[in-house]
Order: sequence, then C-alpha cells, then structure tokens
Amino acid sequence: MKILLGHNDVLLRLERNGDHLPFLLGDESAQVDLPKARQGGLGGGFFACWVPRDLHGPDPDEETLATDDGGYLTSLADPLEPEYACEITLSMTNRLWQLENDSMGGLAVVGSTEQLLTCLDEDVFAAILHFEGAEAIDTDLSNLDEFYGLGLRSLGLVWSRPNLFGHGVQFAFPSSPDTGPGLTRAGRELVKACNQLGIMLDVSHLTAQGFWDLARYSRHPLVATHSNAHALCPSSRNLTDDQLQAIADSGGLVAVNFCVSDLRSDGEEDADTPLELIFDQVEYIAELIGIEHVAIGSDFEGALMPDELSDVSDLGLVLEGLAERGFDEDDLDRVASGNWLRVLAETWQD
Ligand SMILES: [Zn+2]
Repeated sequence: MKILLGHNDVLLRLERNGDHLPFLLGDESAQVDLPKARQGGLGGGFFACWVPRDLHGPDPDEETLATDDGGYLTSLADPLEPEYACEITLSMTNRLWQLENDSMGGLAVVGSTEQLLTCLDEDVFAAILHFEGAEAIDTDLSNLDEFYGLGLRSLGLVWSRPNLFGHGVQFAFPSSPDTGPGLTRAGRELVKACNQLGIMLDVSHLTAQGFWDLARYSRHPLVATHSNAHALCPSSRNLTDDQLQAIADSGGLVAVNFCVSDLRSDGEEDADTPLELIFDQVEYIAELIGIEHVAIGSDFEGALMPDELSDVSDLGLVLEGLAERGFDEDDLDRVASGNWLRVLAETWQD
C-alpha cells in the first residue's frame, strides 16, 4: 500500500545543497531521498517551496522565548521581499523538474489525478508542487498562470509570517490558533483564482481568522497538509474541533503532522517522542470527523521527527501501528492515499 505525504521540505534541502542528485542517488543524512522513499512505501507527496529569509543561516528576526506557563512564544517573522521570494521559488521549482529529468522515469511531477493514479500503479514516485506561502505570486495575480504551467497544484496562502495575501499563525504553545487577522482582499482574490484554476488551498499555518475566511470564500474541500488536533496538543499550529468539523463538512482532510512539538502534550522539541502520539492523532480525528478525512502529512525535512521515524524508510511503522489500533485495510487505504485522491479529484481541473 503506497502512501502519499502532505508535506515535505526536500526542495529546501536541495536548494541549500545546490544539488538535486543526492535525492535520486541516496543521501545518508537526508530524512527523505528516493531509495528511502521506496523502502518506506512512499508513493509520493507534496513538495513544498518554502523560502527562508537566509538560505544558509538562521532567520535573524525569529526568536523563541520560554513563557511562564512552561510553553514558548516565537516572534513573528517579518515579511519577505516578493522579488527575492519569486527568485528562490523559481529555483526550487526548477530543481523539482531536474529531479524528473534525471530520474530516468523514476519520478514524475504530477499535475492531474489521472497522472497521479498512473504513478501509484506503475511505481513512479509522484511529486506535487506546493508553495508554502504565496510571496512569489504577484498581488495582481499576473504570474499565477505561469506558476500553474510550471506545475503548481497546491498552495498555502501563508507560512507563519504575514504577506500581502494574509497573516500566518504565530508559533506559540500553549496557544489558540487565533493569533491575528486573516486574509486580505488580495488573499480573497487569490482564493477565487485558485478555485478557478484548480489549485488546492492549504490551511496549515493560517490563523484561525484566515482559516474561517478561506472556509467562507473557497468552494473546494478544505485541506490541512500538515496539522494536528489542538485538543491533544495545544499548539497554535493545530486545529480546534470546530476547525476539524469544518474540514469534514467541506469534504476535505487533515494530514497528520509528525513534528514532535505539534504532537506532544507538553509542546517540547524532543525527538524522544513515541509514535503512539501519531496514532492518537489519527484516532482522535477519525473519531471526531471520520477516517475519510484523515491522511498523513509528516513535515519530513522541515521539522524534528520522532526518533523511531528519523527518516522516511521507517514510514511503514505508521500503517503497522494504525493496524494494531484496529484500523482495517479499507481505513488504511484511505489514510495512505484514498482520501488524497478523492480530494484532489474534486479540486484539480483534470
Ligand atoms: Zn510548515
């Protein structure tokens, strides 16, 4: 059974390294490369273009402080310069196409559900181009068609920082996701344009207000590519029961995040975190809104993973653990790829 993952930051790693070939050949220090993906039963997933302020250093305006209640609060990152964001995004997009070109048929950048199904059937790794933050898109949307042509099929309007389209949720624990304003007028126009083109919209990293704005203005199923239930881990990045319900009502899905600080009830950045917490998330969301609205997100290459899942070759442990919790073959099939295929068929144009 092949798994599709809602989020990875492989392209950031390749951009930093300045070389895409290690992904295809194997890279010992990587959480995800093609050989490990095959070992772990990974059929493909969403490849994020996330633009850091500085490709090779820490973000100077991001500072995490401990709070009196034993949690943390990270200062909200400053907006990016759109021209810089566009340049890095185009470079990352180009690296994804280089992966396809040099994979000798082993990897394809996927733009339709038919193509995605073919890849899963024929053992071709399926890569879906996603932007985590819309900074590269002009506010008059004049380059959106061009990005669609380059393969863009999924978009998070914001990462956890403000941009011209909306406001990202500030990293904080414990905290409600209601940390600031939602979508701007340009953000609402972008939602409309993505609905028309058939670009999936991602709620992960939106503020609560941004989430409800998107729920109101988008006519597609709501999708969280890497988020968890707030009831089990009260991080500002996680979704409240009301939000989970709205996702179910829209026919969408929540792809569970493996980022340890978004799994643990103490919010600690500690890799000594049992996989049981991932299974708890799947179980909780499935009980609340149904297994047809649950998938796997992961955030490989973008966050600290639990020790037992330190790279994607161990991904099979997730399905095994869920089977032990009593999920049957049909349930697992939905979580692995079936729910993604349903949502994408409703969202993409073809
Ligand atoms: Zn993220």
